[in-house]
Amino acid sequence: MYHRLVGADHDLAPAGTEHIFSIPADRFESQLRALQAAGWSFVSLSDAIEIIRGRRRLAGPSILVSFDDGCQSIYHHALPVLESLRIPAVVFVTTDPSSPVFHDPRRQDPRLSESQLRDMIERGIAIGSHGVSHRPLSGLDGAQIRSELSESRSLLESICGAPVTAFAIPGNWYDARVLAAARAAGYTSVWTSDPGFAKAGSDIWRLPRINVEGDCSPDALLASLQPGHIAARRAAMELKKLPKRIFGPDRWMALRSRIYSHLPARFASTSRIARILMIGAAVGIAAATVALLLWGARLSD
Ligand SMILES: [Zn+2]
Repeated sequence: MYHRLVGADHDLAPAGTEHIFSIPADRFESQLRALQAAGWSFVSLSDAIEIIRGRRRLAGPSILVSFDDGCQSIYHHALPVLESLRIPAVVFVTTDPSSPVFHDPRRQDPRLSESQLRDMIERGIAIGSHGVSHRPLSGLDGAQIRSELSESRSLLESICGAPVTAFAIPGNWYDARVLAAARAAGYTSVWTSDPGFAKAGSDIWRLPRINVEGDCSPDALLASLQPGHIAARRAAMELKKLPKRIFGPDRWMALRSRIYSHLPARFASTSRIARILMIGAAVGIAAATVALLLWGARLSD
């Protein structure tokens, strides 16, 4: 899962969330080339759904490239790379052009225009919905959730002239009400930001994805797809969900942006928290092993 792209000459902001959500176009291309060289193949949204539903079998390890928010930088910087490498993708679009996701104070990246959306479909990119406003859905009442789901879908369908059946949760704010409402609104798959791999038989209403951070090197990306890293990411994600649950969407979003504006970039990313957890677990296991050995030695004395 990606969000925004920047040109190769752009300096990523050293703090805040910009380094998580923006990736230089040349690094994006190197990541995809490294995945291809390592034997990963790429599937389209419709292929992925068929595989998850068990109607098609996977030839080998496969990736569905997705983008959240629907910023124009995808059109300018990602589309040429995807076409040159013949890699399909899906873009989940937040439909309201005035949503804050398109107007970060550090950098403006407007929503894809209607003609860009139509052009992307013609060039093999699938379009899904990411809601109307990008507000945290689990903080809304039932009627607001329904309108976020159905208004975004009908607008995208009228622009694209094709059914829009996949939904990606904005900010990963979801609960059972949101998932049920997505089903009732006519979507046939829901994509979260919970780290993990989808496989045949996975819950189609709560599919996992892996966020690729902008400062992730191709080697680090390949390493992060190993099962141990995914488990650590999942643990880090659960840790990050705790303050979300305690404070609720509105207070947590305000607090988070204040924390991130002061926090050095190296502490802000899920993959780094995951790495710290893995190191912590390794140190814990090593300490426990030493303690057991000492205890065993004392028993045998
Ligand atoms: Zn988003």
